[in-house]
This record gives sequence, structure tokens and C-alpha cells, in this order.
Amino acid sequence: MMEASATIVAVASPPGHAPRGIVRLSGRASLELCGLATDLPAGVVRCTLPWSGSAALAVVSRAPRSFTGEDCVELLLPGHPAILDEAVRACIARGARAAEPGEFAARSWLHGKRSIDEAEGIAMAIAATSDAQLRAARRLQQGEAARAVCTLRDEVATLLALVEAGIDFTDQEDVVAIGGRDLADRLDPIVARLRALHAAPVAGAIDRPLPWVVLVGRPNAGKSSLFNALLGHERTVASPEAGTTRDAVPEPLSLGGQEAMLVDAPGIESPRSALDAAMQDQARQAIARAAVVLRCVPPGADHPAIGPDDVLVLTKVDDGGVAPHGAIATSAHRGHGLDALRSELARRLRCKPASESAEGAALLPRHRAAIDASIAELQSAAALARSGGAALPEAELVAPHLRAGLDALGSIGGSVTPDDVIGLVFARFCVGK
Ligand code: GDP
Repeated sequence: MMEASATIVAVASPPGHAPRGIVRLSGRASLELCGLATDLPAGVVRCTLPWSGSAALAVVSRAPRSFTGEDCVELLLPGHPAILDEAVRACIARGARAAEPGEFAARSWLHGKRSIDEAEGIAMAIAATSDAQLRAARRLQQGEAARAVCTLRDEVATLLALVEAGIDFTDQEDVVAIGGRDLADRLDPIVARLRALHAAPVAGAIDRPLPWVVLVGRPNAGKSSLFNALLGHERTVASPEAGTTRDAVPEPLSLGGQEAMLVDAPGIESPRSALDAAMQDQARQAIARAAVVLRCVPPGADHPAIGPDDVLVLTKVDDGGVAPHGAIATSAHRGHGLDALRSELARRLRCKPASESAEGAALLPRHRAAIDASIAELQSAAALARSGGAALPEAELVAPHLRAGLDALGSIGGSVTPDDVIGLVFARFCVGK
């Protein structure tokens, strides 16, 4: 496991070149490692890097009022991978340790700065590939899963308190133990609500595949240009040279509530090399898993046969050409027809069951497993309680099931300790007055 006393360091900006890059440190030696005075207050300071002698900006935050709860430094450096790498290696040479994945968030959790859900939400936000996943991650960060089970958890805690009161405080005349039927009747709606929660669609689960929209067409048909125009930002390189689209890397595409992955399939006519053949194969696979295929045809070219999942797209209409019936005429350069194409895609994706809904409970697989476990325990408790009729003769057997069900919910909504349950008993029954 991660060892928590070391000062950790990592590059915190995305890989590649950029105007600015960030190297992040957390732990007791953070300031010293960057050549900063150890009594420096939080703020932004100019510093001279001990390893290179060059100047940098450092954002200093002090324990406990930092993201991780420890002393932290973020160095703002020129965004060159070699410079960032040099900084990390220099910090490690001076005694820091390379941070493990998620270790900054893990430390913030260790220091009580955020709940495990919030930390998981941060990881999910980083891994998100679509707006819906990002929204789900934000809801997770805001503790939505915990809130959803909180009231149910408190109700189970109350019932456990009532059952335990019947076991432990029978000599107290104020304490009225709960009856078996009464307990079962109060457990049933809790189980029903947990079931509903469990059945809710999970928005943004990382492993939930988004539908693919695949652009196909001959080399130079204008696929890459249309790809970028639909995304609204540059991704692949459009080039006047035929066959420049080299790989099918999906990019998330947001269509007003609908989420999809846009894939630019390599356009290869007759493969000349093993690489060409491999790319053609990749294109075939992309088409096979596509929810919608955009058949891109430039002006003057023959129109391909259209299947039920295909949309015929005439590209480069600013160059002339008339769209045949049922086709959508577009110009990536002038923005013509893009809205029509987006609406058509949204309409078709709405009909696909695999389309990700933008909303839904922000539950992780871990949450679902906990809800499952809790349902099983509470059902066992209810069955035992019901068999007791009006009384609860099996209180000693029922209580462990309630406790286990409560613990499972506690792993989502924050745990309830035995002392809390005793506290509920005291609050309700004035035991020991
Ligand atoms: P791909 O090989 O199918 O990916 O095609 P590209 O997107 O690389 O485009 C091939 C050529 O067509 C490039 O020279 C583009 O500039 C040009 N092109 C793409 N879209 C348009 C458009 O909307 N209008 C015009 N006039 N040219 C375009």
C-alpha cells in the first residue's frame, strides 16, 4: 500500500507540450525540496529551482488547508515534457517519492478532507470520456450516493436500536421492545426503496460503452474535416493528400443530452501494405460496432448503397454538388448542414437502447454491491422477525442481520458505530435516568 509519510511528487498537467506544465508535491518536505523557506505562508511565490537555477512560480498551500491536507507546492513550469520530468527526477533525488496513481486524492481522504466517494468522484472525473460521465462524477463528488442512502441508513439504525433495546434493556420499564410484525412491516419499505435505488440506471459508469458514430468514405472524402467540425475542435489532421486519416481514435461527441463516440475510420481503397490492411480491418471493426454510420461522399462521386443505420452525407457542398434525396449536405469549412446532421444523429441515437442517459443515479459498482448486500441482510431480518408474530422472540438472531445491513449501507453513506446505535437507544428511551 501507499506509504503516507513520504513527500510525493508527480507531473499534474496532461502529457505533451503546452505553454505551461505543473509539477505537484505533497508532504512535509514539499517546500524545502523546491528551495522554498519552510515558514513561507500559503500563496503564490517566485522561486529559484535548486536543481536548474531557473526561475519558476510556486503555488504554496499549507497543511491542513490544502487539497491533500498536507503542505503542498505546485510548480508552474514551461510545459516541456523534459523540463517537467527533470523537476520530478530532481525532487526524487532529493528525497521525494513518485506519487502513485490517485495518491493525492487518497491523501486528501486520509486527512479527512473529503469522503471516499468524493475521492472516487475525482478519479471518475479524470477518467470521464463524456459529458454525462463528467456530470455523474460531479454528483458522486458531491456525495449524491451517500445522500441517497442516508435516510434509509438512519431508519435501519433506528430499527436496530429498537431491537437491541429489547435485548439489553428489558429491565427498564420505559423500554418497549419492537414486535416482530411491526419490525418486518417497517423493513419492507426500506428494502423496496433500496431495490429501486439499485435498479436505477447508472449514468456514467466508466465501463458503460457509448454508441459509436463512425465516419466512412473514400480517402479525401472530407471525413477528418467533418469529424473536427462536428466535435467543434481540431483532432485529426486534415490534409490535401489522400489517405491521411491514419487511425480510428474515438472522441466523445455531445449532442444536446445524447452522448456518443465519434470515430473517424481510416479511408483506404486498396491496401498496399500490412499497415494499410490492418487499418482497413480496424475500419471494418469500427463499422461493425457502429450505432450510426455516416457515409461521406464528396461532390461528383458515386453514392454508396445505404443501410438502415447509415446516413448519407454529402461533403464539401461549398465546392458544388447537389445532395440526393435523403442525404444531408454539409460543408466542414463553412459550417453548412452541421446542425441538421447533429439533429439527425441525436434523433437516431435516441432510438438506440445503448445511448447513455444524461442523468441517473451516480452509483459506482461498489455502491451497488453494498446495496445488494444490505438488501439480503434486511430481508433475512424481516423474514425472521415476521416468523415471531407480534412478539420478537428471536431478537438476538435478528440484530446481527440488521447490523450487517446497516454496515453495508454505512460503507456508502458513512458508517454507524455501535455507540451511535446505543446513542439512539438513549435518545429515545432515557435509559438509566
Ligand atoms: P479525409 O481523407 O476523408 O479525411 O478528408 P479530409 O478531411 O482530409 O479532406 C480532404 C480535402 O478536402 C482537404 O484538402 C480538405 O481541406 C478538403 N475539404 C474537407 N472539407 C471541405 C469542405 O467542407 N469544403 C471544401 N471546399 N473542402 C473541404
